[in-house]
Amino acid sequence: MKILSVNAGSSSLKFSMYEMPEEKVITTGVFERIGLEGSNYTFKINDEKHKKEMPVSNHEEAVKILVEELINYNIIKSVNEIEGVGHRTVHGADKYSDSIVINDKVLNDIKSFIPLAPLHNPANITGIESFSHILPNVKMVAVFDTAYHQTMDKVHYLYPVPYEWYEDYAVRKYGFHGTSHKYINGRIMEILNNKELKVIVCHIGNGASISASIGGKCIDTSMGFTPLPGVMMGTRTGDIDPSIIPYIMNTTGMTIDQVMDTLNKKSGLLGVSGISSDSRDICQGIIDGNERCKIAQEMFVNRIVNYISMYNTELNTADVICFTAGIGENGIEVREQIMNKLGALNITLDKEANNIRGKERIISTSDSKIQCYIVPTDEELMIARDTYNLAK
Ligand code: AMP
Repeated sequence: MKILSVNAGSSSLKFSMYEMPEEKVITTGVFERIGLEGSNYTFKINDEKHKKEMPVSNHEEAVKILVEELINYNIIKSVNEIEGVGHRTVHGADKYSDSIVINDKVLNDIKSFIPLAPLHNPANITGIESFSHILPNVKMVAVFDTAYHQTMDKVHYLYPVPYEWYEDYAVRKYGFHGTSHKYINGRIMEILNNKELKVIVCHIGNGASISASIGGKCIDTSMGFTPLPGVMMGTRTGDIDPSIIPYIMNTTGMTIDQVMDTLNKKSGLLGVSGISSDSRDICQGIIDGNERCKIAQEMFVNRIVNYISMYNTELNTADVICFTAGIGENGIEVREQIMNKLGALNITLDKEANNIRGKERIISTSDSKIQCYIVPTDEELMIARDTYNLAK
């Protein structure tokens, strides 16, 4: 059974096609600069990349080309072979604690959540509508970034603001990257053959979030009402004092939109270092003697260590800490610096084991009180799994 896993952004469309239930990747690819000058798309088949540049004016056109190319490349013989399309959908609010087959009601709900995710849900909706038009007989499934975190209790998801803000305006912590946190929890419970594990997942990429789970149920997570809070990220601040916002508006004349844009896109590693949001550039900057890169890196590590320590207390000592996403999987120095600061938790790094990028493995020594693992994430596969289960 062939399943497509898709992630629609405002001008992009990423896709992976799987043979399920074997979980075999048949092809992956991306459409970029949709509706803009220089639009192009890439298909990866048998490790070979095929790139074409041509005008793609909207997402529906991209989906049409995608289906035609699947046939041209002999990946499918007809559209009837596609039996499900899973859509990464950022916000499911507190209505969706799991993936769901999309019907009119679900689509209207996702539209009603736009005020909660104005940057993401509109693009996800465009993706859903485009595929529904081109493949009207295929089951569409929404896989929500927020769903995994719906098991948090009120103590963890409420903010200490007037209760009416929660009741009347849905102000609460939702958490994001849920598909990744769910995947990593499932994978580590499988590796250690234990369904009761207390796990801290450090999803550290350009966006970063930490979660605490027991037996695959989320207890707490670092992102909040939006993906802005929690640990410091590539371009996002993580936790800051909200009083900074009116202060900067009043002293600089910036508008609320300009300040929020700065907090989301020009802060974090980029804002502090002044040179880059990319962890590799920060590490190189440190080697080159750049003092601001050094501070940025120390802040980045410090905030992750603080969240791990806090969640370890909440879990009454974690069994496992997992590192995942771009930096978590590949950032040898970053992992080493984080683990070296966790001595108070009796964690010890196996320096040799840690000297690796992108591979699943244990990186703590055998006498470490908490086992630490690198577990590469696979959100696309998770979307394909949920879609297969709902479409089969
Ligand atoms: P993501 O958002 O998960 O794609 O992660 C992006 C981050 O991963 C960037 O900060 C990259 O610097 C980092 N990253 C990717 N590859 C490597 C690598 N080989 N070594 C260190 N960091 C990496």
